[in-house]
Amino acid sequence: MTSTAKPSAPNVAIIGGGPAGLMAAEVLSQAGLQVDLYDGMPSVGRKFLLAGVGGMNITHSEAFPAFLSRYGERAPNIAPLLRAFGAEQLCEWIHGLGIDTFVGSSGRVFPTDMKAAPLLRAWLKRLRDAGVAIHTRHRWLGWNPDGSMRIASPEGEKTLRPDATLLALGGGSWSRLGSDGAWMLPLEQRGVTLAPLQPSNCGFEVEAWSDLMISKFAGAPLKNIAIGLNDDVPRLGECVITTTGIEGSLIYALSAAIREAINQHGSATIHLDLLPGRPVDKIQQALSKPRGSRSMAKHLHSQLGIDGVKAALLRELTPAECFTDPARLAQAIKTLPLTLVKTRPLDEAISSAGGVTFEALDERLMLKQLPGVFCAGEMLDWEAPTGGYLLTACFASGRAAGLGMLEWLQA
Ligand SMILES: Cc1cc2nc3c(=O)[nH]c(=O)nc-3n(C[C@H](O)[C@H](O)[C@H](O)COP(=O)(O)OP(=O)(O)OC[C@H]3O[C@@H](n4cnc5c(N)ncnc54)[C@H](O)[C@@H]3O)c2cc1C
Repeated sequence: MTSTAKPSAPNVAIIGGGPAGLMAAEVLSQAGLQVDLYDGMPSVGRKFLLAGVGGMNITHSEAFPAFLSRYGERAPNIAPLLRAFGAEQLCEWIHGLGIDTFVGSSGRVFPTDMKAAPLLRAWLKRLRDAGVAIHTRHRWLGWNPDGSMRIASPEGEKTLRPDATLLALGGGSWSRLGSDGAWMLPLEQRGVTLAPLQPSNCGFEVEAWSDLMISKFAGAPLKNIAIGLNDDVPRLGECVITTTGIEGSLIYALSAAIREAINQHGSATIHLDLLPGRPVDKIQQALSKPRGSRSMAKHLHSQLGIDGVKAALLRELTPAECFTDPARLAQAIKTLPLTLVKTRPLDEAISSAGGVTFEALDERLMLKQLPGVFCAGEMLDWEAPTGGYLLTACFASGRAAGLGMLEWLQA
């Protein structure tokens, strides 16, 4: 290994080898520091690799104001990170690893082969060449009373006393990939202000589907629909019926608002538009046509193309008497109310909301309570929908924390 670190250079420890931790390792090793990166798993970047399985959506090409708005009320905290390293800089950085990117029809940005593995391989080689020492199967347990860090390793418990530390431990979902949120306790014990981890980009449960919905339609995709919550303009997209409720990209996009409504009121009612392209009066006209001896199911199918899971959902959620009243049935097709009562468990979610609050950090992403300890990535208290916004903010915060650490060490 050829280390670029000067013999007298400060030694820094990075805990967590996801995109945030690896990005900080890059910044710090480039500055000539001795970087030791520790991860509890047998290999680094496992969630990053999983994100590549269905097509690695690494960032988004939309204009900065729209991009920033995806971070909701945390946009002011994320803004400086993205101004320094946003979608454009991220794409340039990916190209620097020899990986091309393309913009999909929705504006989402992907590596040309859609995969995460070639990118991670090239990146890890560059980091190792720069002298970053990666210690896998090394799990951070917290701090000893003297302030040193406790690391569980295959050789037994170790004690670390680096000059500075970055915690980039991820959120609390998909714990089998390494991020399990167990870091909350040691940070809480050191007086760091934390927001509880909650599922984000997650599915939701209904009180109970009928046996028919579960046996015939669990797993069925609901395509070409729109969903509205409260008075917001309904969003177009698709989702999937599950045995316990509903999930999929359209639901994920609304998940923060649905979750907060459930937190406040105990449940949230979304409204499904089964025929987003058609105005309610046209639907009513079609339903009012004579159907002779044909069943209502056949009438719905022939007049409006409603069948399968859409027809089943309409039956499930609409009182029987509506089916004899075209005006009420048309209204139900346009605003079918579905009450959601809880999120699916955090471990199933794509990402986590909550974590280390920005109020607990200074502008360098250093913990005010613990000078010399920095935080980055999904463990910070922000959330965003899918679309590349999660990874972009993880990379950007990892880079900002790395630069912040450099500045602090120099001072
Ligand atoms: C199925 C799925 C698909 C996704 N797809 C996308 C996508 O297409 N686009 C997108 O933008 N985002 C996507 N994401 C989200 C994205 O992968 C995460 O937001 C991102 O990986 C978080 O990066 P991070 O560095 O903060 O944490 P992580 O990637 O979670 O890395 C944290 C690391 O810390 C280690 N660690 C945790 N605790 C300890 C400890 N105590 N000691 C030592 N090591 C520890 C873990 O082993 C892990 O390696 C997806 C997520 C999932 C689950």
